[in-house]
Amino acid sequence: MADTSGSQKTEDCIFCKIAAGELPAEIVYKDDETVAFADINPAAPVHLLVIPRKHYTNVVEAAADDPALVGRMLTVLTRLAGEKGLLEDGFRIVCNTGTRGGQSVPHLHFHLLGGRSMAWPPG
Ligand code: AMP
Repeated sequence: MADTSGSQKTEDCIFCKIAAGELPAEIVYKDDETVAFADINPAAPVHLLVIPRKHYTNVVEAAADDPALVGRMLTVLTRLAGEKGLLEDGFRIVCNTGTRGGQSVPHLHFHLLGGRSMAWPPG
């Protein structure tokens, strides 16, 4: 696997472009190192994506390079869950990783899903 952990932006990465404001998205939160926006194809009444501004292909790269960033992303996710009123009924955080994990966009992202009951196991 190519080492992209040091790159700030990859030319063809749609999530890098959203983070840079070069592609439109319904941004719900941003700070110096993360951006959260609505999923374009929502799978639940609440479906947000939280990404790091820095390009990591997946959580494996990010956890190896900057594990504290992954923790701060979880803090953003739980804060957003609270703002969306999901804390009482519950919600799901998903991080699809690699081909068999169902990852379709190769820029680390956590899904925040809520507003309906979730099935287990996932498909
Ligand atoms: P995954 O399959 O885990 O890689 O998730 C990628 C997610 O990104 C999917 O749920 C897509 O609907 C979503 N997505 C793809 N392109 C965009 C976009 N331009 N804006 C918002 N969400 C997107």
